[in-house]
This record gives sequence, structure tokens and C-alpha cells, in this order.
Amino acid sequence: MTETVDAPGIAQRLAQLRQELPPSVKLIAVSKTRSAEHVRAAYAAGQRDFGENRVQEAMEKQAQLTDLTDITWHLIGQLQSNKARKAVETFDWIHSVDSLKLADRINRISKECDRCPKICFQVKHRSDPSKTGLEPQDLLTAIPRICEYHHIQVEGLMTIPPLSSSDANALKIFQENRELAELITTEAKRLGCTNMAMKQLSMGMSGDYSLAVQAGSTLVRLGQTIFGARG
Ligand SMILES: *Cc1c(COP(=O)(O)O)cnc(C)c1O
Repeated sequence: MTETVDAPGIAQRLAQLRQELPPSVKLIAVSKTRSAEHVRAAYAAGQRDFGENRVQEAMEKQAQLTDLTDITWHLIGQLQSNKARKAVETFDWIHSVDSLKLADRINRISKECDRCPKICFQVKHRSDPSKTGLEPQDLLTAIPRICEYHHIQVEGLMTIPPLSSSDANALKIFQENRELAELITTEAKRLGCTNMAMKQLSMGMSGDYSLAVQAGSTLVRLGQTIFGARG
């Protein structure tokens, strides 16, 4: 990648976002398709959380950034189960756990490699052929099974509204996601399950983050707002 990095622009947009976002919201800079130098520019401006959607791309970038030891890496893209081991080794967070089978596998692998990654379940609140995700009811039913995961930290729920959603519908989906997190937390507590407080809501991208924040998002994942339009 030879494109030049507009470091002052990146720093300025990060500063703007820090002013705009409530303190309860963590900003994840989505660096997918950007070079390691983009990550460096954001890091120099104080950014420490970065999101990537592919394991291989993240590993290549990390290899160029070994001097930046306090970055928290978030996997936000779909994870194939054959890449789960690499993902556990590469990322601190996995936001896109879209099946119980994948969660089982991550839990098992994490035990073997002595890591305890933080995860969010990706929930699909509307039918959407372009997205994977668990149905709300599947998650509620699976509480006892999730309760048995001792090698992952279940942090919360991630969701992405269908691309064509109106603002009103996107807001509704974000609110449903928050309500589902509250319902699961209550139900898990009732069942004596102590590792399932769904405190984090990973919601909001460049096009819809203000709606997500309005609905209670705690983790926004922004790429284009920080780094400029993606080709
Ligand atoms: C690409 C991506 C983002 C960031 O999108 P922007 O439009 O660049 O803000 C957030 N979440 C997921 C899951 C993504 O794949």
C-alpha cells in the first residue's frame, strides 16, 4: 500500500469524535483495508482500540506494529471456524461470534492456549441474507450452555442493521438489541449464571453510530469517519 497517510486529518477526526461521543462509549478505529501506517497515525493521536475484519490481514499488520504493545485488537468480521485458533491468538476481543458452535470452539481453543478472549455474540434481529448471526430466541435458550464457558469472557451483544434500513428501523433494531441484552442478563442471573452480564453493546458504524449511541451503544466501530472513504 503506497497511499499517503493524512495523519493531521486522522488526529483531527479522532479528537472530534472524542468530544462528540459520551464517555460511556468506547471508540474502535476500524483499520481494515488500511495500512499499518494508518494505525500508527491514529495511535500517535491517542487511539488504542483497533478493529479488523480478517484474521490474516490483522496478523500482517500486527507484524509491522510490534513496537506498539498496548493496542487492543478487536475482530469484527465473520470468523470461519478453521481460523478460530489464529483469531484467539491474534485478537483480544471477538465481536462476531455468530453461532454457538463457534463459541464452543473458541472456548475450547482458549483453554488449550491459556487465553481468555472477550466475546460478543452477533445477533440478527431481522432476516438479512448478507449477514450471519444468532436469533434472539436461540441465545435465550442457550443460556445454560453459555454459562459453562469458562475460558471466554462473555461481554455482550453485537448487531448490524440490514444495509437498507431507514434511520427509524436501525434505531429500533439497536433498541431491541439493548433490550435483549438486559433480558439475557436478568434471565442468566435468575439461573445462577454469573458469567453472563451482557454489559457491552457493540453497535454503530460510520453511517449509523449516532442512532446506536442514542440506543445505548458502548462500543462503536468506525472506519470511514476516521480514515476517510474506503475505495
Ligand atoms: C467495516 C466495518 C465497520 C466500519 O465501517 P465504516 O463504514 O468504515 O465505519 C464496522 N463494523 C463492521 C462489522 C465492519 O465490517
